[in-house]
Amino acid sequence: RFITLEGGEGAGKSTQVRALAQALKDRDIDVLVTREPGGSEGAEKIRELLLSGAEDRWTARAEALLFAAARADHYERTIEPALQAGRWVLCDRFLDSSLAYQGGAGELGIEQVRAINAFAVDDGFPDRTLVLALAEGGARARARDNENSDRIGGRSEQYHQKVDLAFRLIAAEEPERVRIVDASGTPGEVTRRLMEALRDLLQ
Ligand code: C5P
Repeated sequence: RFITLEGGEGAGKSTQVRALAQALKDRDIDVLVTREPGGSEGAEKIRELLLSGAEDRWTARAEALLFAAARADHYERTIEPALQAGRWVLCDRFLDSSLAYQGGAGELGIEQVRAINAFAVDDGFPDRTLVLALAEGGARARARDNENSDRIGGRSEQYHQKVDLAFRLIAAEEPERVRIVDASGTPGEVTRRLMEALRDLLQ
């Protein structure tokens, strides 16, 4: 099974990737944990291109294609072989981040970004995508306190609202694959909600 975890800033995604991987291992599931952008040698090189330099280093189209190129390499070299070996794959961000960030919040729109990404992964969409979501405001307040959210400072509140809205639109369009999960409460509570959203796949 191919599971991806998504969310805007400050929803506790990194913590939940680790906790969900452990919860799956506790059920004797062999799970490969990986992350985007990166996850293969070539994709890590592209990650450096994307995350270094000025915010406006790339045009919107170039940036979307770089994310998609990194994803293509990561999918074919790392994710697909693991799935074919019968393992589960848990990926920290995947194509829905591009739909939300480059598509919904950026200038390209969700549909164009979906098209290049469907090509990039040869329609290898996740079996389930879990989107961690906090009520307005809470997420960003946490992110501001989080030193790891390196790009938060450069982006407006409006931008982040567009990201959140895009994730909700995608979930509405693909309710079977994409589930919004309430990220409030203790980490343990959130992990239980994530597992609940995987219940049909765990049987
Ligand atoms: O997963 P993490 O929160 O560390 O992601 C780092 C940042 O990279 C995100 O906050 C987001 O601003 C950016 N990003 C992006 N487009 C993607 C994936 C991530 O702009 N497709």
